[in-house]
Amino acid sequence: VNAWRNWSGELVSTPARLERPRSTAEVAAAIARSSGSGSGSGVVRVAGAGHSFSDLVPVPPDGTLLRLDAMDRILDVDRATGLVRVQAGIRLRALSDRLAEHGLAFENLGDINVQSLAGAIATGTHGTGAQLAPVHANVVALQLVDGTGETHELTSEDDLRAARVSLGALGVVTEVTLRCVPLFTLRGVDEPRPLEEVLASLDELADGAEHFEFYVFPHTDVALTRTNNRVEGPPRPPRPARRFLEDVALTNGAFGTACRLARARPSLVPALNRSIVRLASGRTRVDRSDRVFASPRLVHFTEMEVAVDRAHIVDLLRAAKAEAERHPVPFPMEVRFVAADDSALLSPAHGRPTAYLASHQYRGMPAEPFLRAVHAIADGFGARPHWGKRHWHTAETLAPRYPGWEAFQALRARLDPEGTFASPGVARVLGRVPVGAAAQLAAR
Ligand SMILES: Cc1cc2nc3c(=O)[nH]c(=O)nc-3n(C[C@H](O)[C@H](O)[C@H](O)COP(=O)(O)OP(=O)(O)OC[C@H]3O[C@@H](n4cnc5c(N)ncnc54)[C@H](O)[C@@H]3O)c2cc1C
Repeated sequence: VNAWRNWSGELVSTPARLERPRSTAEVAAAIARSSGSGSGSGVVRVAGAGHSFSDLVPVPPDGTLLRLDAMDRILDVDRATGLVRVQAGIRLRALSDRLAEHGLAFENLGDINVQSLAGAIATGTHGTGAQLAPVHANVVALQLVDGTGETHELTSEDDLRAARVSLGALGVVTEVTLRCVPLFTLRGVDEPRPLEEVLASLDELADGAEHFEFYVFPHTDVALTRTNNRVEGPPRPPRPARRFLEDVALTNGAFGTACRLARARPSLVPALNRSIVRLASGRTRVDRSDRVFASPRLVHFTEMEVAVDRAHIVDLLRAAKAEAERHPVPFPMEVRFVAADDSALLSPAHGRPTAYLASHQYRGMPAEPFLRAVHAIADGFGARPHWGKRHWHTAETLAPRYPGWEAFQALRARLDPEGTFASPGVARVLGRVPVGAAAQLAAR
C-alpha cells in the first residue's frame, strides 16, 4: 500500500500512485501520466518531510503523491554572491551542513531543520527576528513543473512574489536558487523571566536582539525567553554527551514524562506546568547558527499558529493564555517576530510587522476545542494562519486577508488551468481553479 502519514500522525493518505522522481524530467513525466481533471481524479501533490499539520499533502485515493527525497543535490554554489542552486527535495539540515562547508548559511531558520526546502518555502516557514523575513524571502529563482507538465524558470519579481509561498498549488518545485549569508556563529541565551516584565518591554526585547522569542506555559507567570545574537569567533559546540543531556534528556525526556502524566491525569496540568517552569534553568550556547536555531522535537504534538499585526500580540497572548487555562494543555504557547514581508503575496506577514502566536497540544489530548477557541480569539485580531499548521479557514475567509489574493489566483489559473494540484485540502483554502481557466488559455 502507498501509505503516507504526517509527523503528528493525524493525516494519512493512500494514493493510487506514489512516485519518487529523480529529475525534473521525471517530475514532468509523472504529471503528464496523471491526467488532471480538477474533479478529484488525477490530483497530484508533493509530500516534503510531512511536517505540516494542515492537510495540504493528502490526495484522493485515485491521486498521485510525489516524493522528491532523491532530488537533494546541490547544483551550484557561488560563495561571492551567496547564491546557491539546489534541488528542491533537499532537507534543511543537510543543506545547512553543505552550506557550512562552503562558508555559507541560512540567514534565519525555524526551530527544527528536518523539513524539505520546497516544503518549508511553500508554507511560509519562519524563524524569529523582528528585522528578518521568513525563509522564502531569500528565494531568487524557482524552477517548477506546472499542471500541464511544462517546466518554467521563474525569475521575475512578479512571478516570484506569487510563487514563493504557493502551498504547492502552482506546480512541483524542482530547483531553487537561494540567497545565503556568510557562515556565522550565534550566541543563544535561554532565560526564564517574569512574564509581566517581558510583556512590558516586549518591543525593546524584540527590536534589541537579532532573534528574540519566548514560551509561556498556561497557569504560569514566567516567560521562557530565547535571545540569539551573532558573535565573532568560532562555534563552541557542547560535547555530544552534554548536547544529548540538554536537547534530549531534559528538553524532551523530562518534558515528555510530564506530558504523559498530564494525559493520564489532566487535572494535574496546572501543577505539572508550574513544576516544568520551576525546573527550567537558563543556558547559553555558542554554536553554528543552524545548530542554535534548531533542536530535536521528540515529544509529538499538534499545533496551530497565527500571524497578527505585531501591535496586537500582547492582547492576543493574554486572551489566548486565559483560554488555554480553561483546557488541559501541558504545552507552552510560543511568541515570535517577523518583519513585514512583501516578498510573497501569500506570506502571513505580508504588509505588516508581524508577531506569531503558536498554540500546541500534546498528542492524544483533546486539541480541537482549545485550538478552535484560540482561533476565534485570533480572528478578532485579524489573524492569518500559518499555512502548514492547523486552522479552520476557507478561501472565503482568507481572500479578504490578502491584498494579493487575485494576483496569486491569476498565476494559479495560468500554471494549473485544470486543477491538477487542487486536492480537497488545497481547494478548501485556495478555492477551486476558476472553471474555464483551461479553455480561456486555449482560446488565447
Ligand atoms: C515539530 C515541528 C516544528 C516546526 N517548527 C516550525 C517553525 O519553527 N517555523 C515554522 O514556520 N514552521 C514550523 N513547522 C512547520 C513546518 O515548517 C511546515 O509545515 C513545512 O511546510 C514543513 O515542511 P515539509 O518539508 O515537511 O513539507 P510538507 O509538510 O511535506 O508539505 C508542505 C507543503 O509543501 C508542498 N511541497 C513540498 N514539496 C514541494 C515541491 N517540491 N513543490 C511544490 N510543493 C511542495 C506540499 O505539497 C505541501 O503543500 C514545524 C512543524 C513541526 C512538525
